[in-house]
Amino acid sequence: MCDCIVIGGGVIGLLTARELHKSGVDVLLIERGPLGGESSWAGGGIISPLYPWRYSDAVNTLAQTSKILYPDLVTQLMDESGVDCELLSSGLLIADEAEIEKALSWSKQWSVDIQHITEQQAFQTIEPAVSSEVKQGLWMPDIKQVRNPKIVNALKGSFEFLRIACLEHTPVLDIIIQSGQVTGVRTKDREFSAEKVIVAGGAWSAGLIKGVQKIDVEPVKGQMIMFKGEPDLVHRIVLSQGYYIIPRRDGHVLAGSTLEKTGFDKTTTQNALQELRDNAVALIPALADLAIERQWAGLRPGTENGIPYICPAEEVRGLYVHAGHYRNGIVLGPASVQLMVELVLGKAPFCDASLYTMAATH
Ligand SMILES: Cc1cc2nc3c(=O)[nH]c(=O)nc-3n(C[C@H](O)[C@H](O)[C@H](O)COP(=O)(O)OP(=O)(O)OC[C@H]3O[C@@H](n4cnc5c(N)ncnc54)[C@H](O)[C@@H]3O)c2cc1C
Repeated sequence: MCDCIVIGGGVIGLLTARELHKSGVDVLLIERGPLGGESSWAGGGIISPLYPWRYSDAVNTLAQTSKILYPDLVTQLMDESGVDCELLSSGLLIADEAEIEKALSWSKQWSVDIQHITEQQAFQTIEPAVSSEVKQGLWMPDIKQVRNPKIVNALKGSFEFLRIACLEHTPVLDIIIQSGQVTGVRTKDREFSAEKVIVAGGAWSAGLIKGVQKIDVEPVKGQMIMFKGEPDLVHRIVLSQGYYIIPRRDGHVLAGSTLEKTGFDKTTTQNALQELRDNAVALIPALADLAIERQWAGLRPGTENGIPYICPAEEVRGLYVHAGHYRNGIVLGPASVQLMVELVLGKAPFCDASLYTMAATH
């Protein structure tokens, strides 16, 4: 018997279990596959929603809080695991953006630095590798990135260091409920008892609690490609018409990503590779000379408006849902976890928790 079981070892489940453990809760995390092997591994790690002014206050509140929490989080993870998450201040350059007024008024509201760049030369001073076809756009100097496989590895190391109980390669088959109260979960071989259960199963969350609680979370496939370049070829995250370039410290350059509603299919396609490559080269011509080292796909936990569920289930006491972070699980993660842990521990939430309830999210 433990106090709390977390189902799902993506970045949301890992961060939730780690924070609960640090608050003195006896927690067990159960993961179907290897830790962090799904969307959390596959993502780009930009610590900002793309075009943040298009998002609701619910998303922006978490995003802005997470940005403050990240530097301390990666330092703690480095101390606990020895893994550097590669938190880089790359900034975000948005090419040929049309929503200038909207973006600038959002920047005032949220006190985020956004500069309107009106001269091609100034644009290329910020990122010399960008195409001379780009005439104007926006510059967000404070945007950072982390490297997804590194944050997953750092969290794994943190689990070992802090001795947080965890089972890998163990699918949860059922949530056990008695008289309206959750009492544990069932796997193929045994039952695990707990007073509280948190569903953090990413794109699989709706299926996991089907019959217990209806939630609108569906898989949205994202394909990505990675060029093998030299360090300092590209310095900035560059975004144009939904396509982005993310330069890593070692010279790898990621180009993403597709948005595909094709169920739980994670296959990659030649069409997507071509689409991502063409858009990347149009933005950064020097990428044309580089080999594509890898292509992959991940399944985002998609929600209609990108607002995650961070709330108790409606009918079952002790059952919580922490899922549906869609395109922003890395950026929203630390703040979302803070709120989830406050709810589980019965503490006053740091923000308006009603924005992430069953009623609010659909
Ligand atoms: C191409 C791409 C680019 C992205 N770029 C960014 C970005 O730049 N910035 C950003 O913030 N976000 C980005 N994202 C989104 C981000 O990766 C996700 O929002 C985040 O990883 C979701 O984390 P999660 O823990 O909820 O889900 P996941 O990482 O998918 O983890 C869920 C886990 O639950 C496990 N599970 C499922 N069912 C069971 C079961 N029955 N029993 C036990 N375990 C189970 C799964 O195996 C999985 O490991 C991107 C995603 C993709 C695909």
